[in-house]
Order: sequence, then structure tokens, then C-alpha cells
Amino acid sequence: MTKEEHIKNLKAIKKVGLCKKYLDSMNEAIKALEQQPCGDCVSRQSILEELNRLGRHAFKDDTDYDCLFDFVDRLPPVTPTRKSGLRWIERFDNEDKWLECPHCHKDSDNAYAYCPNCGAEMRGAENG
Ligand SMILES: [Zn+2]
Repeated sequence: MTKEEHIKNLKAIKKVGLCKKYLDSMNEAIKALEQQPCGDCVSRQSILEELNRLGRHAFKDDTDYDCLFDFVDRLPPVTPTRKSGLRWIERFDNEDKWLECPHCHKDSDNAYAYCPNCGAEMRGAENG
């Protein structure tokens, strides 16, 4: 069961009507789940540190290492945005199929829970 499904279930249980003690616990559990890190968002700092740790010798040549370092450094920052209610837009062109973020309009080849470009939360197969 995904984090989003857990949250959905807990919210459904809340509607049944609980005494204050259980309602408070339920709200705490929902809050804790919502604050869990997002699997689609990673720390730029951690990636750069990992690249540094690997070092230049892990790459075929210095250019590969520098390009990768610059590439990671140039990626746009995202602010994960919850409860946006957005869904990936399916796009087709002949046999090609891809997804478009309705917020920033960048393409994605995967139905991520959060847009890798702008961080908008997506509703879909995985998160209801
Ligand atoms: Zn986006």
C-alpha cells in the first residue's frame, strides 16, 4: 500500500466519527505520513557529494565528470506541492506516447508522483 493510500484510508476512517482521543491520534498519523520524504525528489547536495565521493577516477575522462557535475548543478530546484489535484496529461504522436505536466508543461516519460521539473504533486494510478 502506498503512502497516499494510507492517508486516504485514515481520512476515510476519520469520517466514521471518532472520539477526540482517537481523532487526535489519527490527525497526528496523517500529518506524519504527509511529511514523509517524497521518493521522486532528491537532494541536489547529496548527488553532488556522492559525485565528489566517487571522484574523477570513477569516470572515463574528466569531461564526463565535469559534464555530469554541471548537469546536476543546473537542474531546476523543485518545491514539492501537495494537494494540487493535478494529473499527468497523456500526449500521443503516431506511436509515441509521453506525459506532460499540466503545471510547467514539461514532458516526462514516467508517471512520477511529483513532476521532476516543478515538483507539482500528481494524482494518478499510484496515488489515487
Ligand atoms: Zn511540472
